Amino acid sequence: MDGAAPPPAPLAQTLVLASRNQKKLAELQALLAPRGYALRLVSEFSDEDVEETGESFIENALLKARHAARVSGLPALADDSGLEVAALGGAPGVRSARYAAERASDAANNEKLLHALAGLPEAQRSARFVSVLVLLRHAQDPVPLIAQGFWPGRILEAAQGANGFGYDPLFYVPELARSAAELPAELKNRVSHRARAMHSLLRQLPA
Ligand code: IMP
Repeated sequence: MDGAAPPPAPLAQTLVLASRNQKKLAELQALLAPRGYALRLVSEFSDEDVEETGESFIENALLKARHAARVSGLPALADDSGLEVAALGGAPGVRSARYAAERASDAANNEKLLHALAGLPEAQRSARFVSVLVLLRHAQDPVPLIAQGFWPGRILEAAQGANGFGYDPLFYVPELARSAAELPAELKNRVSHRARAMHSLLRQLPA
């Protein structure tokens, strides 16, 4: 045995995205289209919700990707992402979407975050967005492609901007001197955690 891995099977050009979030679909689609990949939403194939029971972004992304590959028969891409706030020991982390409650609104999650950080000075409000992408060629793929991306910033004391979604209005990006919700979609898409993870994933894909 020389340990050489067998060449990966070529990927079909259509991937299923294991998400119901139209904003994520748009962000990822814009990044993948130039490489000739089209995305379809898993909701075209199944109404079932996958329980995100993992303690890490990677575990949750794998759960979602495996389900999407199984119900669609297509190669599957999943993103699990969230916000880590240093002063909160990394919370809300993998629970970002359900920080205030199961199926909480973005407004409720943002409100809870502001409350948790009330009174903390700027220097103690650092945070980062995390995105983990998993690509499975098929539901039993034993060698998933995995990529991670991080976007450092800090949490504002009040919401700013109306673009994006989730915690974007509270997430200040020092290099751009604006909140993520004040960035045009096209700019967010070049610098975000998801963009960084996607570029790393694209480097692993067959050309
Ligand atoms: P997921 O759908 O399980 O990955 O949950 C991700 C959650 O993290 C979202 O509901 C948002 O609250 C937050 N999040 C992830 N990416 C972003 C982003 O780009 N902007 C703002 N919030 C985000």
